[in-house]
Order: sequence, then structure tokens, then C-alpha cells
Amino acid sequence: MNEVLHYIDGALTGNLAGSAGRRQDVFDPATGAVEKQLAIAGPEDIARAVASSKAAWPEWSRTPPLRRARILDRFKMILWDRMGELAKAISAEHGKTHEDAVGEVTRGLEVVEFASGAPQLLKGEFTENVGPQIDSFSVRQPLGVVAGITPFNFPAMVPMWMFPVALACGNCFILKPSERDPSASLLLAAWLTEAGLPKGVFNVVHGDKTAVEALLAHPDVKGISFVGSTPIARHVYLTGAANGKRVQALGGAKNHLVIMPDADLDMAADALMGAAYGSAGERCMAVSVAVPVTDAVADALIQRLQPRVEALKIGPAHDPEVEMGPLVTGQHLAKVRGYIDAGVAEGAKLVVDGRDFRQTRQGYESGFFIGGSLFDRVTPDMSIYRDEIFGPVLSVVRRPDYQGALDLIHGHELANGVSIFTRDGDTARAFQQDVEVGMVGVNVPIPVPMAFHSFGGWKASLFGDHHVHGPEGVRFYTRLKTTTTRWPTGQRSDPQFTMPTLG
Ligand code: NAD
Repeated sequence: MNEVLHYIDGALTGNLAGSAGRRQDVFDPATGAVEKQLAIAGPEDIARAVASSKAAWPEWSRTPPLRRARILDRFKMILWDRMGELAKAISAEHGKTHEDAVGEVTRGLEVVEFASGAPQLLKGEFTENVGPQIDSFSVRQPLGVVAGITPFNFPAMVPMWMFPVALACGNCFILKPSERDPSASLLLAAWLTEAGLPKGVFNVVHGDKTAVEALLAHPDVKGISFVGSTPIARHVYLTGAANGKRVQALGGAKNHLVIMPDADLDMAADALMGAAYGSAGERCMAVSVAVPVTDAVADALIQRLQPRVEALKIGPAHDPEVEMGPLVTGQHLAKVRGYIDAGVAEGAKLVVDGRDFRQTRQGYESGFFIGGSLFDRVTPDMSIYRDEIFGPVLSVVRRPDYQGALDLIHGHELANGVSIFTRDGDTARAFQQDVEVGMVGVNVPIPVPMAFHSFGGWKASLFGDHHVHGPEGVRFYTRLKTTTTRWPTGQRSDPQFTMPTLG
């Protein structure tokens, strides 16, 4: 049985039981078999990782930004060369198709490209003669040791939303990846070391709630970036902030896609297929609610979607024909099935029932597969509408007009992404201005900002003041220091007891 260990001080470390004396199974979701055993950290492992990062920090924070950027540049070239290897590791534990995993790595790599511009990103501001012979300058300095706690659905990309920017800014970074697909993080750690990153600057500690609580309580951890479900994001934000840390905590999503009567319906149907069922719906920017405006649009849309949902090609990641892989664990599969049961019980119309799907390929019969599901006539009080299902389940909520669609979106507590399909510029512009959601698409199904912009939702989809990566990421991982200077000229002036002003 393969063992998955922590990565501290530039090397794999610890024994399988970890200081907590606990271990956990890691599955291949396509077969349902246990493939690996994961060491689960206790507070002592966290303390060791923090001590290692703290020891590395003084030198790393003083390393010229250009030199830090060159290490990231070398890391980027390793990622390009070994993208296939990393994608394979992701698919083996997550289940997403190989091509989708390559896409994930590429989007993460773009943040490395952004962070390689560290010297430019960290340029300060200088004003001469703010007073007589007095100059003033502002610089952004790193926080120190920071930690990232990440979800299962993007085991490479979400950590890469965080650590390239954190490292470029001169911080040391401790990653606590998801315990469900931990291996990608170890490849990233090994390749950072190979690129020349000094030991201790990037550490990986595996674990669960215990590890997270130890990071939140540790006084030497100055900042926490979290991405995961809303209840945990809220808890991490409140606890971290109460302990004096800077926190950005991104939570769950229920993303709506509005289809106006003048929309290109074929384009909207194509968009919904990819956005609702790609990666088996396990994306924080997945579209899980379609909002056709008028019944006629709803009927025409469902007519287009139904045969395509029924025909989804579902199987293991390595088959290039496959459009949708399995869910991540048997536990998650049971949860998604439970929501489909609840939708039926609550009175929604189940147009396509994914529960009927059976994987018949030899060797994959026990994988965590489910078919795509399509619900019509969903209402806002139903649990399939209110809760994030995080599976291949699309709910159609009919609305009579634009205002009804907007009110529906505003009634939901989650506000990560949203999209509108229309040919009308006025409607699109009004929507973009009025909608209370962090990331907006117009005729674009998954409006994920590029690395040089910043990513984040509103309301209960993000706790804290900063979105991730891009300029917001640089602000999060640095703090501002402003210095005012005067040099002796030999001229003395009398002590001044009033507030200094230019007069
Ligand atoms: P999760 O909340 O279960 O886990 C996220 C992280 O928190 C993991 O590292 C996990 O080990 C840790 N954790 C789990 N339970 C904990 C607890 N009780 N106390 C402290 N830490 C705990 O999320 P997940 O199932 O791994 O990922 C899916 C969720 O992540 C979805 O809700 C999805 O929308 C969200 N997500 C959001 C974004 C975003 O940008 N907003 C991006 C990706 C995923």
C-alpha cells in the first residue's frame, strides 16, 4: 500500500501514523478501491512545520524579489514539462478527466506566471519633499509564515491560487491540502525544491480538522487562506480573526445562469452542459441553477438539454471519450443521491434521473459513478435549490421576467459566480451593474477571472476583505509600511509642540 507523508524542510517526513497516531484511506474513485494511506497530522506535526517555515523566513523575506521570481520561473518550466504527470496524479484521486486536470494545472500555472512578476508587483511609492527636506515612501512587506487550507475539487489549482503569490511576496507557506486527494501537493512541493526554493519555505502537512485548528491557534502563523465549504470558511474566518490573523476564506457556491428570451438558445444549452456537468459538477464555479425567463424559453431549453444529459459519456479519467468522471468518494456519492431523492420528495420534476446510471466497464463497477440529473419546476424553498449539492445536478427555476430572475439570485445566501445569456446590450449592462455577485459572465458560462485579475465571491461565498491571486492576492500577502525621512543638514530648528503642518 502506498504511503502519503508530510513534506517538511525540503523532504518527505514523518511516519504514517503521524504524531496524531491517525491515518486515512485515499481512494481511486473510478474503481472504488483504497489505493493509499495518508498520514494525518496532529498539533506536533503542525508545530514542526511552522518552526521550519519560521526558521526559513528571515532569509527568504530578504531575498531580492527578482531572485524569488527566478525560482518561480524555473518551477513554471517544470510544470510545463511535467503537466501530464501532475494531471495523472489529480485524476487518480479526484476522478476528473485527464483533459480537465490538464486545464486545472494550466489555470494554476497562470498564477505562477503572474507571481513571476514579483519585482514589478512589489514596487513601492516614493514622494520627495513631503515637507522641508523630508521624503516619504511606502513599501509592502511580507506577513511571515502563512498557511493555505484547500478543498478536494482542485488539488493543484487552488493551492496555486495562493502559494505562488505568497512566496513571491516573501512569505513562507504551509499547505494543508484536502485529505481526499493529497498527492498533487507533494509533486508541487518536490518541484519547488528542484527549482531552487530553500528548504522550509514551502511545507505540506496532511490532515483534517485537528490540523486546521492547530494552524488557526498557532501564534507564528500570521495569515490564513482558506477555500472550501461555507460553514468551514465561516469558522476559519471567525477563529483566525479572533486569534489576530489575517484571513481570506472562500466558501461554497450556487451559481445561476439566466437565459433571456432573446438569447442564442443553442449557445446557452452548450454552455449549461459544460458548466453543470463538467468535472461532475464538483466545481465552485459550476452552474447548478438555470433560470430561463418565460415558460417558452424553459420548454425550449429543456428540449435541448434532456437528450444531451441522457447521453453523457461517463467513465474513468484515462478514456479520452469520457465527458464526466466519478464523484470523489462513496460518501459524497451518497450525499448527491440523497439530494436527488429529496428533490423528488419535495415535488420538483425529475426530467433526467442520474441515479439510474450503472457503470458496466469491467473493473469500474464499484466506482463512485452517477449519471447527470436534470430537474425542472424547482422552487426556491426546495433543498436542491438552497443547498450546494456539488454534483452533476442541474435545477431549472422558471421566472417570468428579468426582475424575477434578479430577485431570485439576490434571495440566495451564496454569491460566487453568475451569468446571463442575452443578445441585448442594455439588459447585459444592467445585469452586470445590478447583480450582487462577485464574478459575472455575459454569454460566458463560467466567468473565472484570469490570474492577473482576482477571484472571489460575495456574501457567504467569501469571508474577509481580499479575493485571491492577482492584485488582491499581493495585498493579502503583504502589509503596508510607510516611512518618513529627514537627514541632518546642520541647521537646527526649535522643538515644535503643535501638529506639524506645511502651513
Ligand atoms: P470542505 O469544506 O469539506 O474542506 C475544505 C478544507 O477544510 C479541507 O482541507 C478539509 O480538510 C478542511 N476541513 C474539513 N472539515 C473541517 C472542519 N470541521 N474544521 C476545519 N477544517 C475542516 O470542502 P471540500 O468538500 O473539500 O470542497 C468542496 C467545497 O469547496 C465546496 O463547497 C466548494 O464550493 C468549495 N470551493 C469553493 C471555491 C471558491 O473559490 N469559493 C473553490 C473551490 C471549492
